Amino acid sequence: MIGAGFSDLFVFRSIFGPENAVWVTFVPAKPAQPLKLCNCSRLITVKIGLFFGSFNPVHTGHLVIANYMATQTDLDRVWLVVSPQNPLKPRKTLARDHDRLHLVRLAVEDNPLLKASDVEFSLPKPSYTVDTLSYLKEKYPEHEFVLIMGGDNIATLDQWKNYHQLLEGYYIYVYRRPHVESGALASHPHVRMFDVPPLDISATYIRDCLKKGQSVRYLVPDPVWEYLESGNMYRGD
Ligand code: ATP
Repeated sequence: MIGAGFSDLFVFRSIFGPENAVWVTFVPAKPAQPLKLCNCSRLITVKIGLFFGSFNPVHTGHLVIANYMATQTDLDRVWLVVSPQNPLKPRKTLARDHDRLHLVRLAVEDNPLLKASDVEFSLPKPSYTVDTLSYLKEKYPEHEFVLIMGGDNIATLDQWKNYHQLLEGYYIYVYRRPHVESGALASHPHVRMFDVPPLDISATYIRDCLKKGQSVRYLVPDPVWEYLESGNMYRGD
């Protein structure tokens, strides 16, 4: 017997298990409250969008995407996965891993649908998305993971390690980028396209502003702005 109020917190989701057995699972309903474990020993499946980035630093453009995906799609949560080292980017301008993670934590602390993830910090470097996904799938077998990326990324996905495995094994939610063709892979059956209001902000621009002593207020969430104002991050060479 399930207690009163259960249906406010969880919705049914059925998934096909091995040998076509149907598992009935419960998924936290949105708007999310912190996940509560019920005393019924059922499997909880949460559909999690993974938004990878250097977040050097995290900015409002990132958060608009993350919040859109967490609220306007069937995703239950979005994790902002801080990459310790993007194999396609130079390391010179990268702030320390834990500083970038701290900023992401500050950015999402008031939103229960968003979470900062440091999962890649303990994985072999450089970190490749396909390896991180395999690790997460094994660590959280009850979760379904979906990749979130921009139209610019899907256009060049064929340069990523084992991209076929990514496309076949996972859904990819793509937000269109202005003036960018999403390319042939955008029509793959596992790719879903979304129109998110574009914000023309980049971490590069924010780093430049900070280096010149210019304000980045409103370009980053307030707690991130306050932290950056009070310290020296991105101000030196
Ligand atoms: P940099 O300027 O240092 O290259 P960035 O702002 O592009 O950094 P990343 O951490 O590399 O930030 O971004 C993570 C992901 O977010 C990337 O896939 C990137 O394309 C995307 N992204 C960055 N800025 C925006 C934005 N304003 N709107 C939508 N997506 C963005």
